Amino acid sequence: MTPSSPIYMDHNATTPLAEAVADRMTAVLREEFGNPSSVHHFGQRAKSVVDEARSAVAELIGGDPSEVIFTSGGTESDNFALRGAAEALEPSGRRHLVSSGIEHEAVLNTLKALARRGWQTTLMPVGATGLVTAEGLTAALTDQTAVVSIMHANNEIGTIQPVAELTRLAKARGAVVHTDAVQTAGKIPLNVKALGVDLLSISAHKFYGPKGVGALWVRRGLRLLPFMTGGKQERGRRSGTENVAAIAGMGVAARLAMAKMAEEASRLASLRDRLEQRILQAVPGTAINGDPDTRVPNTSNISFDRVEAESLLIALDLEGVAVSTGSACSSGSLEPSHVLRAMGVGDELAHSSIRFGFGRFTTKEQVDYAIDHVIAAVKRLRELSPLYEMVQEGIDLSTVNWQGGH
Ligand code: PLP
Repeated sequence: MTPSSPIYMDHNATTPLAEAVADRMTAVLREEFGNPSSVHHFGQRAKSVVDEARSAVAELIGGDPSEVIFTSGGTESDNFALRGAAEALEPSGRRHLVSSGIEHEAVLNTLKALARRGWQTTLMPVGATGLVTAEGLTAALTDQTAVVSIMHANNEIGTIQPVAELTRLAKARGAVVHTDAVQTAGKIPLNVKALGVDLLSISAHKFYGPKGVGALWVRRGLRLLPFMTGGKQERGRRSGTENVAAIAGMGVAARLAMAKMAEEASRLASLRDRLEQRILQAVPGTAINGDPDTRVPNTSNISFDRVEAESLLIALDLEGVAVSTGSACSSGSLEPSHVLRAMGVGDELAHSSIRFGFGRFTTKEQVDYAIDHVIAAVKRLRELSPLYEMVQEGIDLSTVNWQGGH
């Protein structure tokens, strides 16, 4: 039996638009067509829409509105932060960038691009639960380090990094610090001053806002070379006529997130714990990936020994439950997750991992439905797998003579 409507459990990939966000965007699209750079009153009305959203986003992250630059999303914010800070530091002679092996592709591929232009890069290792350590960062930092970029929470496993502690170490060596907070904004309290960073990226579609809009917070006084050149929008830092409706939507989404955060965080954590406890109890050969003590509340990444994750994902989708095998960007590829690999999870188990991402509209009934169908689907898939039967019978697969049969 499938549920009356499909169950969405992939909120780390994206979230549905909140009703109030859609209403505001529709009203802005219809009524506020002015160009925020125009001096006449049509323009000034549009400008005040953008300014109101800027205040809401600043409040969400504990910054000042003048420090918020609207972008086209998390990917652009990450690119802008890394390229803009690196280029601004070029004259200093510092040519070294530090990050971790579990960053989003928006950071990793930007670092690769900078490396092709002569920047030296170091990717720090992470521990078994996905944490970067102070020792790891200390070993990576040099007097040449220009920028350090460490994500606040990981999109696949939810592990939250000790960004404030790591930032102190990096700044003591004179580096500029960026954090990708795309997976924490709107989920847990976020304060740029408490984190101590210079740059912070967020994206609206991860907290019930529209896709294609995000923000980069830039500490006042930090030198950053513009990534987009053209007109004087965003104080000359990000040219191009603003996407006023999307920015307005992001502002409403930020206010909603602040109002709901405390209640939602504990509700989602208890749903996540319920799912994990029941699945771990009922299904042998399962393990949780991520840090048990510091994780975003909505994320659960589980490995199912000897079950192909793609098959499980499809089986669940047929039952009306949408989950993911990791980051949306890399699903569809047969490469195991770079995040799980960096944590030391073997390739086979990394291919057997599913991510559940709960959200504002996830109910206990939906979670229970998902639990029952995960248990049933894993059992079915394992019954189809001769290898699993052999393991169950106590046969050590490393001793099997595959040529001669067994
Ligand atoms: N950074 C992280 C940690 C993400 O999870 C994502 C989206 O998956 C991004 C960056 C990219 O954000 P956007 O989709 O807005 O470009």
